[in-house]
Amino acid sequence: MAAPRAKAIGMISGGLDSTLALKLIQDQGVEVKAINFYTGFCITETQRRLGGRSRDGKIPRNEALRAGADLGVEVELVDISASGYLDIVANPRYGYGANANPCVDCRIFMMAEARKIMEREGADFVFTGEVLGQRPKSQRRDTLALIEKQSGLSGRLLRPLSAKLLPPTLAEQEGKVDRERLLGISGRGRKDQIELAARLGVTDYPQPAGGCCFLTDEAFGRKFHDLLDHRDVRKIERDEIVLLATGRHFRIAERVKLVVGRTEGENLVLERFADGRRWRLDTPAHLGPLALVEGEPDYDQRVLASRIVARYGKGRSEDTVQVRWTRGDEEDAFEVPPLGEDAGLEAIRV
Ligand code: SF4
Repeated sequence: MAAPRAKAIGMISGGLDSTLALKLIQDQGVEVKAINFYTGFCITETQRRLGGRSRDGKIPRNEALRAGADLGVEVELVDISASGYLDIVANPRYGYGANANPCVDCRIFMMAEARKIMEREGADFVFTGEVLGQRPKSQRRDTLALIEKQSGLSGRLLRPLSAKLLPPTLAEQEGKVDRERLLGISGRGRKDQIELAARLGVTDYPQPAGGCCFLTDEAFGRKFHDLLDHRDVRKIERDEIVLLATGRHFRIAERVKLVVGRTEGENLVLERFADGRRWRLDTPAHLGPLALVEGEPDYDQRVLASRIVARYGKGRSEDTVQVRWTRGDEEDAFEVPPLGEDAGLEAIRV
């Protein structure tokens, strides 16, 4: 009697590495169910959900769904943004990378979720497109082992692109996957993967975009740390992620922050956050940005915030500009000279 077909859960982003991993496992006759995590910090997915466009003006596509469709594999989108994921982002046990990216904790969290799906689906193992040594912290040999152990996937986490450089997994030991047909790629280069893609007939894959996660973005990281460093409790809400990715941010005082829209699209996003919990600022007599103030500013801080908002509107060369403040039923207005060029704005810019 033929051995039952092995089943695997593939974590895919739709990037080249995970697409190749998927293809390698699929070509061994393994039944694959692919999963793609939405963390709330995915740049293109957030743009898609806001109906926005990427830098090249196109509506961003979900690469994981595209890759799954290309290879004829079902893809489940798993939204972890509302789960305990935000707690580990705010309080990572293994710390942050260069910016606000807690990659080790993030991977452990995702792999643990993948393990639950593996168990639910009766699958034999989980695989990823990770490449040994490709990322400085989260893809070191010791970190890959740590992630495997902490996620409860010991022996059941296969990295097909680097498998020959790593200890054999149970699926390899049990003959469910032929180790000889897996690879031994390591390092940051992409040459091996590009050659492999050509060999396997994988032609449609995104160019590395230099990070698809807000948490690895330097400017976002600054705003993220500024926000949490000014809170009594390190906690971030789901909707604050979009706010952190929108507008110019200024730290007016320890507990007062100003966010100024840079484009019409950003003004529309900020409008959604003017919900009675934050002050909404605009300049009724001039075209200009919409801005939000969080906290309880005193008089001087209100004047400063108003002058900054006036500076970014069409009234910037007027002697004074009126800035209107509204929050629920509260209203206020300030007639202020727009802040000048050399006003030390950069010192308070987050
Ligand atoms: S870049 Fe790091 S923090 Fe962002 S999704 Fe990937 S592993 Fe997670």
